Amino acid sequence: MKAHSSEVEVFVRIRPTADFSRGRQVVECLPDGQTLNIHSRKDSRRPWDTRKSQSSYWSFQLEGVLQNISQEDLYGRVCRRVVLGALDGYNGTVMCFGQTGAGKTYTMTGSTESYEQRGVIPRALQEVFREVEKRTENSFSVYLSYLEIYNETLVDLLSSRGSPCPSPRGMVVMEEPGGGVFIRGLSYHPVHSEEEALNLLFEGELNHIIGSHALNRNSSRSHCIFTVHIESHSRSSLSAKYVASKLNLVDLAGSERVGKTGSEGQMLKEAMYINKSLSFLEQAILALADRRRDHVPFRQSKLTHALKDSLGGNCNTVLVANIYGEAAQMEESLSTLRFASRMKCIQTNPAVNEHNDPATQIKKLKKDVQRLKEELSIYNTVAKRSGITYDSLSEAQLAEIHHQVQGYLEGSLDEITIVSIRQVQAAFAQFKCTVQKRGQAAKAQLSQTDNLVEKNPRPNKTAIKVGLHPLGELHSRGSIEPSPQSPKHTHRRSSIKSNKSKDKLSQSKTAVEPSPVSRKHLESVSKSKLNFLQTPEQEEESHEPDTESQDAPESQPPGEEPLHHDSPPSKAEAFEDFKAGPGSKSNCILKENKGVLLERRGLLRQLSEEINAVKGEIDCTAAAIRRQEEMGEGQGQYLVTELRELKDHYRQRYKVLRDVKSEINYCQQLVDQCRVRLLSEFENWYKKSFLVPEDELDITMEKTLEQQKDSQQSSEKVLEEDKLLPDNSKSFYNARYRILKKRNTRALSFTPGVQRKSSGQRRLPQILPVS
Ligand code: ADP
Ligand code: MG
Repeated sequence: MKAHSSEVEVFVRIRPTADFSRGRQVVECLPDGQTLNIHSRKDSRRPWDTRKSQSSYWSFQLEGVLQNISQEDLYGRVCRRVVLGALDGYNGTVMCFGQTGAGKTYTMTGSTESYEQRGVIPRALQEVFREVEKRTENSFSVYLSYLEIYNETLVDLLSSRGSPCPSPRGMVVMEEPGGGVFIRGLSYHPVHSEEEALNLLFEGELNHIIGSHALNRNSSRSHCIFTVHIESHSRSSLSAKYVASKLNLVDLAGSERVGKTGSEGQMLKEAMYINKSLSFLEQAILALADRRRDHVPFRQSKLTHALKDSLGGNCNTVLVANIYGEAAQMEESLSTLRFASRMKCIQTNPAVNEHNDPATQIKKLKKDVQRLKEELSIYNTVAKRSGITYDSLSEAQLAEIHHQVQGYLEGSLDEITIVSIRQVQAAFAQFKCTVQKRGQAAKAQLSQTDNLVEKNPRPNKTAIKVGLHPLGELHSRGSIEPSPQSPKHTHRRSSIKSNKSKDKLSQSKTAVEPSPVSRKHLESVSKSKLNFLQTPEQEEESHEPDTESQDAPESQPPGEEPLHHDSPPSKAEAFEDFKAGPGSKSNCILKENKGVLLERRGLLRQLSEEINAVKGEIDCTAAAIRRQEEMGEGQGQYLVTELRELKDHYRQRYKVLRDVKSEINYCQQLVDQCRVRLLSEFENWYKKSFLVPEDELDITMEKTLEQQKDSQQSSEKVLEEDKLLPDNSKSFYNARYRILKKRNTRALSFTPGVQRKSSGQRRLPQILPVS
């Protein structure tokens, strides 16, 4: 076989005969062994025809004209190179074409009685196993299949051996993504020796559907494709690459003219099928030979479809055209030779079929990874870097990276030490996540602020009402430690604490984060509060009477007369009060919106289940239709109608589902908005009710300091001579300063006029009902 053959190789084999065309028709084989000339002279039998005779002449140039050639020589000239190519990974096809009885089966299978007269197939099998034994550097796997196409039906000639996976749906010609063809349902038999392979060949021969025929009683009435599948793996290399090829040995059914063979009934039907499929083969070959044609009609018949990847392409293809040498068959012989000439024009580009074995590939890659890890660990040792692993990060490692990233963002960690690429990637992922979260929060807050500014410029009645609360009853519950980050901020330390207030303090510390309550941090504060503030549902479930609610101040109606405290109540407690009082309206809206959201979610769940059920029905119906098609029963009309109805229903419900989903998104936004509003109102109310505005506190402090100074000056005057007393006086004035400060603070923080004057306190308008 040529290394880069450009055409299909075509040989002609002339069947030996006693009456080798002499007289009027002459078959002439030129000494070059490649040219066949045919001379024909027809005498007119019609008396009125003045032309006594018509003569014609044809010359065919082929790869070889084989006359009186032995089976062995034929194999050597025609087939050996294709077989050796298949062992190297090239697909190969040897095909016999010609008139019935011209010697196709003799060429392919040969005589089963005489070893000398055995044909191409047994010789090819012998050659394959001899080569397998010789080529010890590779390990070969050989499989056989034997397909017959009879009246457009695919028959497995080896099915009696028991296919390992017989297809219940019959055999179908299938195409692989790379352009290859295989027969689904055809049995493939592994063989390990020439004898095993011959057993299968002869068994397949027995299963042939043979029809009696006027010209040749043993002539096959079907096309037979005997395929040797060869897979070769290199024993030495660890590479996942391997080569796989198939060698198709094709014995086509003979084309005969119906009138000439006298076929009738079943025979006539067979002849028609054969003629039809051979004519489709001819069309496919014409299209293949014409380089301007993009489309080759392979799917017109089972034969052309099954031979799609065996007629050209990357395949080594050889055609043997079998003809009679007798004058009586000259018309058929001419037709065969014309077919052969067309076949000669087909271009081929033989190529090795290389594949990757996924299992070996994985094994090899694992080995590579292991080797690289070892190499890296050597580098790390040299660079004195220890404890570095290259496996996936564990949960604990991921948590540590998260912690580091948060610390870095907050400023408590100056830099993150890079230890591995995985760690860097995980850190970047954390950064991304944090940036996205913050972006969303900022967006939500911005839209909330915009809404509030646009929709409700009214003053907050609730806040004014809170401002009217009597001063003396505040700060009775305990205190909150001032935030270390903002010592001069709003919280004050209560210097004398009762046991009860100490307990409360410890609870408050765990429950409430003493964070600054500036507008800037509203969102993050609100979010942190969301963690401990219960959802309406949870609130309802866990609502228990507060033991401290028995206290007189708390028994007053909330929102009207606030409790008296030495220090502000914990935010959690205050929030409860707020929700029941001034924030009740906002809380109510939040609850309502949550209710709608829950209801919509329930609906979404129901719809999803319903849609999935319909989808299941669609799949079942489609599968039933497919089954019917494959079994050739045709589509049941009722199934098609049902499928259409199901699909309509599915589309309708899906549309509703989409609407509900967008409603849910909208509701979720409303709920989030309401929650943020409620919390920001609360923060505002809390500041107004329990904390002193910054500017007022500054004024108070200044005044107090002046008084302290005055008092100190007067004391200094009185006790001028007694220099032992200043320490006592210092403590005294310090204590007095604190009391004054507290009084001033109380007086200032709960004077409505002062509160309204305070520019540091921004007020949020009342939440509008959400429609
Ligand atoms: P086909 O398969 O083309 O219909 P066969 O191969 O069955 O025809 O041949 C018909 C008969 O002719 C067989 O008995 C076969 O032995 C004989 N025959 C065909 N070609 C040769 C040949 N080259 N040498 C000897 N016998 C042949
Ligand atoms: Mg035959």
